[in-house]
Amino acid sequence: MDIRVGDVLVMKKPHPCGSNQLNVLRIGMDFRLQCQGCGHEFMSPRLKIEKRVKKIIRDQETITP
Ligand SMILES: [Zn+2]
Repeated sequence: MDIRVGDVLVMKKPHPCGSNQLNVLRIGMDFRLQCQGCGHEFMSPRLKIEKRVKKIIRDQETITP
C-alpha cells in the first residue's frame, strides 16, 4: 500500500473520539499518526494500519487501496 507523509488515512473503525481520519506524520516500520478529531498522536505498526485503512486522501483526491 502506498502511504506517504502528509496523507490523510480514512480508517474503517473510528477513534474513540468519533473521527476516522488520521494525519500521517512519519513513515517507517511504525507509522506516527495523529487523529484529526482529538489531536492525539501515536505510533502503530505499518501492517496493523494497512489492514485498517479504508481510503487515503492526498491532495484533495481520494485513493482507494
Ligand atoms: Zn481521536
